[in-house]
Amino acid sequence: MNGNADIIMELENLCYTYEDGTEALKGIDLQIRRGEKLAIMGANGSGKSTLFLTLNGIHKPTRGKLLFNGRPVEYSRKGLLDLRKKVGIVFQDPDSQLFSASVVQEISFGILNLGVPEKEAAKRVEEVMEELNILLFRNKPTHFLSGGQKKRVSIADILVMDPEMIILDEPAAALDPKHARMIDGIIDKLSEKGITVILSTHDVDRALKWADRVVLLEDGIVIREAKPDAVFQEEEVLMRTNLEKPAVLKLFETLCRAGILNENLKIPHTVQELEQYINNR
Ligand code: ADP
Ligand code: MG
Repeated sequence: MNGNADIIMELENLCYTYEDGTEALKGIDLQIRRGEKLAIMGANGSGKSTLFLTLNGIHKPTRGKLLFNGRPVEYSRKGLLDLRKKVGIVFQDPDSQLFSASVVQEISFGILNLGVPEKEAAKRVEEVMEELNILLFRNKPTHFLSGGQKKRVSIADILVMDPEMIILDEPAAALDPKHARMIDGIIDKLSEKGITVILSTHDVDRALKWADRVVLLEDGIVIREAKPDAVFQEEEVLMRTNLEKPAVLKLFETLCRAGILNENLKIPHTVQELEQYINNR
């Protein structure tokens, strides 16, 4: 491995322009740390999905550089296969990812394609199905699944390849709260395994609680990159990205202003932390 071993991916002046001339990424500089929980946020059309497609090699940068584990990504068949083995992407719309006759076939497809022997692949598929609670609907056609089930199968598709990094494009979009929480739990497990997780979301409360770092995109440019408690206190950048301050922070500030809590307390990341402050007064 070349370069800094703590950095799994590095973007240098990364640009991407679509064929119709839309400049979706206009020079992104970013270092992604190994094992990091990174939330990419920004208004619709700010370039989140384009960035993700570039990170796993589906889009080739028009300008600039992408380094994975210290080496520039090679846009050859082999180079891209190597990258996609290690960097998986879970699309926002599961229907654009799932196409097999049954769930078990769907999850087996990628790993068999990588050339893993059938017996070993089958074992790995079983493990992942068990881990993501998929066994009950293993023989169903993927197009008959519910939104939450489809999302789990899309994650299983990727997890079965044993990736170093998983990118999830708005994983909670279109899910009810119960299923969104279930996916949150799965995402936490990915991090516990040491996988680097990057996701996009509009949910500031979730990002405050979950992320090690938040990157705000505006019109193809990174306008802010910091720990969530710092980013979410900056009204101006939040406004520019159509985001609101997390409810916990708003309430914390109100309670501080009213003299009920001491403003020197550490910023709470969850409602539970805030409740504790109130109870311990
Ligand atoms: P986000 O995911 O943040 O909503 P996108 O990456 O989808 O943003 O879009 C970034 C910009 O690129 C937008 O201006 C969008 O209209 C444009 N764009 C996205 N996909 C295409 C495409 N296939 N062809 C042309 N322009 C596109
Ligand atoms: Mg998008």
